[in-house]
Amino acid sequence: NDTRTKEYIDNVFTRLKEKNSHQPEFLQAAEEILFSLAPVLAQHPEYIEHNILERIVEPDRIISFRVAWQDDNNHVQVNRGYRVQFNNVIGPYKGGLRFHPTVNESIMKFLAFEQIFKNALTGQTIGGGKGGSDFNPKGKSDAEIMRFCQSFMSELYRHIGPDVDVPAGDIGVGAREIGYMWGQYKRLRGAYEAGVLTGKKPGYGGSLARKEATGYGLVYFVAEMLHEKGESFVDKTVVVSGSGNVAIYAIEKAQHYGAKVVACSDSSGYIYDADGIDLAAIKEIKEIKGDRIQSYLQYRPNAEYHEGCTNIWSVPCDIALPCATQNEINGDSARLLLANGTKFVAEGANMPSDLEAINIYLENDIYFGPGKAANAGGVAVSALEMAQNSGRTAWSFQKVDEKLQEIMKAIYAESKEAAETYGFAGNLVVGSNIAGFRKVADGMVAEGVY
Ligand code: GLU
Repeated sequence: NDTRTKEYIDNVFTRLKEKNSHQPEFLQAAEEILFSLAPVLAQHPEYIEHNILERIVEPDRIISFRVAWQDDNNHVQVNRGYRVQFNNVIGPYKGGLRFHPTVNESIMKFLAFEQIFKNALTGQTIGGGKGGSDFNPKGKSDAEIMRFCQSFMSELYRHIGPDVDVPAGDIGVGAREIGYMWGQYKRLRGAYEAGVLTGKKPGYGGSLARKEATGYGLVYFVAEMLHEKGESFVDKTVVVSGSGNVAIYAIEKAQHYGAKVVACSDSSGYIYDADGIDLAAIKEIKEIKGDRIQSYLQYRPNAEYHEGCTNIWSVPCDIALPCATQNEINGDSARLLLANGTKFVAEGANMPSDLEAINIYLENDIYFGPGKAANAGGVAVSALEMAQNSGRTAWSFQKVDEKLQEIMKAIYAESKEAAETYGFAGNLVVGSNIAGFRKVADGMVAEGVY
């Protein structure tokens, strides 16, 4: 049975590599998930009979389109837009939009693929999707951002809808961009379908606590991990990479729980503040001024700035929370964490640890919370935003935050339990992949072959 399972997974992955040889990020995400499913396939031959694996790695469809827009000098610029609708067995496609120069089909597919399992884990009725563009928002004026968002939505609108596909934000896409896209969607559609996009501002269909949700949710998840080991955040030293929406609200909640957060970063470098980061300063730099993290030294002259964002992993800490981007922790960085005595790593970003780094955690007693479980709070509150939009209502911050806490606790408990059930106690990679996969796979079996 085990041999049959192994052969099946090997064959699926070999064919996937042949078809996607030029898509390293997608293959990396697929490799991590496929091989971790061996224990569940060994016990459920129906998944192999229905060839679930080969079907689940093939997106329902990939939409790719031209986005032309006029810059402030009246030059016409051209970018590529994408939407990967990967799997809608559990609910409408759901996942963010990323605007970043590195965006390509491989990145879109890895993110959409991860999203399937993450969204299933939330227990909400949402399928997996992702989209975005290679547009670089850095240095663009507000008017340019608006024109780009409008052009992007002029094509995307025909492919989405509150019961079809519901985009949200990701890197480079926040409430401002969602607002411009929502306005354009509404004009083109001629109807007020608030549930077509999430991450809107409160006041026109946005949910309170959505902005905070990914970062807060990450810390709620880590609190469960700490509790498991008889520990808490109090007096722990924490390093958080990034300084975007996820990082800022992870820092806020970790500090609230009594941790000392000593470092954070942007794409140029990182700051180290031995006294603990002044979050009000970070918010002013990043949320108001849109400045580089280096300018933190103007607020705290005793802090240090170091070039090179990934060097942040040389800062000793008890808890590492990568909240920047994919593959920001490689094997060397993971070995540094290990040497410095880090005991907990949990991912606020999507796939920030490469496969070598993950193996180092698992083999060395670093308790590891993988992104698709630990950062699921963002998309979970997006699903709560959809529910509020459907009910034409708005919940209090406290109500949303309480539901978020319940969801993160449930994700932790389910992932932990699945790992135990299938013989990998303590391995939340295997646990979260299996827990998410089973919901989707059971739906695929029930819904028939297509
Ligand atoms: N981009 C976020 C994620 O990676 C949120 C997606 C959403 O809210 O739909 O999960």
